[in-house]
Formats: sequence, structure tokens, C-alpha cells
Amino acid sequence: MKNIPYLDLYRQYVVIEDEIDIAIKRVLNNQSFILGQELEAFESTLANYLDVKYVVGVGSGTDGLVLAFMALGIGKGDEVITPVNSFIATTLAITEVGATPIFTDVDPQTYQMSINDLSSKITKRTKAILPVHLYGAPSDITSIINIALKNDLHVVEDACQAHGATVNGKKVGTYGSMGVFSFYPGKNLGAYGDGGAICTNNEQIYNILRKLRNYGQTKKYFHDDIGKNSRLDEIQAAVLTVKLKHLSNWNRKRNAKANHYRKLLEDIKTQFVPRDDYSVYHIFTVEHERRDELKMYLAGQGIQTQIHYPVPIHLQKCYRYLGHKKGDFPIAEGVAGRILSLPIYPELKNVEVEYIAKEINHFHSHL
Ligand SMILES: *Cc1c(COP(=O)(O)O)cnc(C)c1O
Repeated sequence: MKNIPYLDLYRQYVVIEDEIDIAIKRVLNNQSFILGQELEAFESTLANYLDVKYVVGVGSGTDGLVLAFMALGIGKGDEVITPVNSFIATTLAITEVGATPIFTDVDPQTYQMSINDLSSKITKRTKAILPVHLYGAPSDITSIINIALKNDLHVVEDACQAHGATVNGKKVGTYGSMGVFSFYPGKNLGAYGDGGAICTNNEQIYNILRKLRNYGQTKKYFHDDIGKNSRLDEIQAAVLTVKLKHLSNWNRKRNAKANHYRKLLEDIKTQFVPRDDYSVYHIFTVEHERRDELKMYLAGQGIQTQIHYPVPIHLQKCYRYLGHKKGDFPIAEGVAGRILSLPIYPELKNVEVEYIAKEINHFHSHL
């Protein structure tokens, strides 16, 4: 029997081992670990890649979202609209600054923030929209930006799963006031520890973010703002500079796997990606009425899968105080019960994709 892990980062490491080892050794030789030349180099390389003016490296994707809201002065009494089916961190950032998350349901085909629902949720208290480019596929960012412009709202893009995804050739993360990326090891661009970045074209926001990530410090031991300690460290920056060179190639390979899956899984519903959008397939999901049985069947065939995410955010215990109940977001709730994430990474072999697809089709045809 085969054994196919959901994710195998070692397969990536063996390909780039020499470059990575040299980069880490360089940091050790320099003995500069925080806010040094490695971070500066990475920030400008990433800015170049995204085609954006400024990048600020921070401690994690979650911190990046928090710092983005702090930079906009969003806090108590303010509302931020966000999709209900993301990873919890998206909403954690809203509540960490004291603001109130207002959830939207999702589109049943793309699983992205529902645009109709978004329009209906805007109030006098709304300060920002926080769309998520879910699974590495762009949300309907063009519509979201239009709605934001009409209502004088900020857009902070959660691009934590979507490094390199585009809409009409323009990278996601660069549409809003700020875009936030995570470099959690399993992300398409992953560090060897925690890390994150915020991108922006606004110089004023850029300068505030650089202060806020560094204790709100203007010059050493002088603090105009209450900041955080949240910097992308030199070792992670050095690792990420190496990996960024490979990202486009890795994203192309993920697309090839996704296309291969889709061809083989003719009768199975997968995430719909509009024609002008380029997904980077951080996650590849199938939808199935008997998801739990399918997951168990695949596990029995040596195929590891995951569920992103089994519980929509409004039904998480920690947000019970918001007063939501089952049935409030019927599309997201339904989808959460049917989706299953298959292994997808650049190093996944074609024979593995074929084996996984064959087993899914076998399960499906013996209903
Ligand atoms: C990973 C992720 C985050 C959080 O990033 P961390 O670096 O783990 O803090 C936020 N939002 C989404 C959608 C994510 O997938």
C-alpha cells in the first residue's frame, strides 16, 4: 500500500538544501539576527515580486493583520466585515484590536466571500473589509474594491494562502490598502518557523507599520505609539529569499497538479476558479456528500487528507459571545460538511495524483 502524506516539506528541502544551508550559515557568520540586511533584502525582493512599493516583514500572518488594523486606527466600536469560512486567525486579528467581526456567507462555487452579503452588512460602524483569498484562489477582489470605494472603506486583504495569485495579471494583496501574507512553514512560501509580511503602496502606512512592529519606536527608546514586538527575523528572511526564487515555478507545478486532478475527477465537485483568476492552489478541495466516509476510505488506502475548515468561525466556542447560531450562514455551514482537502504540493508525483484520483472515483462509483 502507498503512503501519501498530506504535506511533505522534506521533499522540498532536499531540492534546495545547498542554497538554504548557505543562507542560514551566512546569518550565523554575520551574527545579526533582528532587523538586519537579510530582512531588508527580502522585503525589497518581495516588493518587486508583488509589484508593490513597500513590504514590511513581521512575526506572523496573524500579527500582520493585527498591525494592519492598528495602522488604520481600527479598534473598539468599529466593524470589520470578513467571510465566515476562513482560518480562525483572520477573525482573531479583528477581535485582538477590539473591533467587531461581521461575517458574510460565501459563494457556493468559489467558496469566497459573498458579494451580495457583503453589501447588505455595511453599516455606519463599518471601517474595513477583510476578504480572504481562500485556498490560494482570488476572492472577487474587483467587486470588493468597488464596494469599498463607494462606501469609503479600507480593504485589508488576507493573502496568507495566496502568494502569487493574480486577477487579470495583478497580484492579490496589492488591491487593497494593505495585503497580508503568512510564511507559516506549510504555506506556498514558507519559512522554517513563524513569519509574515504586509505590503502596501502607501508611504504613510509603510512608515507607521515599521514603527508599530518595533515597539512603536521612532528612535531608540522613544515611543510615540503603542506598538508590538513583531519582526521577521534574519534567519527566516534569508530562508525566504532563497525560496521566493522558486515560488513561481512551485505555483506552476501546483496548477499542473490541480489540472491533473480535475481531469481525472470528472464527476466530483471542486472549487470554481473564474477564467481571469490565477489560483496558486495552497489547498485543493473536493466536495462530497459522504465526506467523512470518503476521508476514512482514503486513509485506509494510505492517503492523508485534511478539512479546511470543519467548523465555520461563527460556530467556534471562542466566538459564542457574538451570539450567532447554527443556520446563520447556511452555505458556509453546508460546505464545511462536504469539503475535503487532497494532497497538493509541487513535489507530489503524477502517479500519486493518479492514485488518489483513482481511489476517489472508486469510492464515488460504489455509492
Ligand atoms: C495561515 C493563515 C493566517 C495566519 O497566519 P500565521 O502566520 O499562521 O499567523 C491567516 N489567515 C489565513 C487565511 C491563513 O491561512
